[in-house]
Amino acid sequence: MADKQDKQDKQDMRDKGDHLSTSGQWLLSAYRWKTEPFMDHYVQGFKEKKLLGLKCAGCGAVYLPPVPICARCHSAMRPEREEDWLPVSQEGTVITFTVSYTDVSPGGLRELSPEERRIFALVQPDSVDTHLLVELKECGEDEVHVGMRVQAAWVEEPQGVLADLSHYIPVKTEGVSPGHGT
Ligand SMILES: [Zn+2]
Repeated sequence: MADKQDKQDKQDMRDKGDHLSTSGQWLLSAYRWKTEPFMDHYVQGFKEKKLLGLKCAGCGAVYLPPVPICARCHSAMRPEREEDWLPVSQEGTVITFTVSYTDVSPGGLRELSPEERRIFALVQPDSVDTHLLVELKECGEDEVHVGMRVQAAWVEEPQGVLADLSHYIPVKTEGVSPGHGT
């Protein structure tokens, strides 16, 4: 019953439009912290396939995605200062990962075949102090490992929305540029 009420409350929030206007495909209404001005600048960078980190003026920690308050030194971040935004590397390192054996799409639970399984990873982009939760593609579950070098993969025509950063793939080492937005 409590569960039913919780679902109804969430539906009411959606009906009232109590969610962020930041463009993207994720429903953000359930999140406690709102970061609208920060996220807007961040996703604008996506239009040029750029990852923009926000640097803390207090301790120098670089956040990706940006946050309003530094978790290390509790300084207020300054997204209005252009010099506090840094383009960061498209490459990073897998910190940890999990393999999804189950399809949880609407319509019910279903076990995925080995070809359909999906890998989700926490990636630490180079020179950034935080992690991104991403889907890892072009990589088998027997290949993925902690410490693996990966790079961002973008949609072909970015729109300046969260979904522009499509997934990550293993770094291609031979003669292929990781693509820094050009
Ligand atoms: Zn700080």
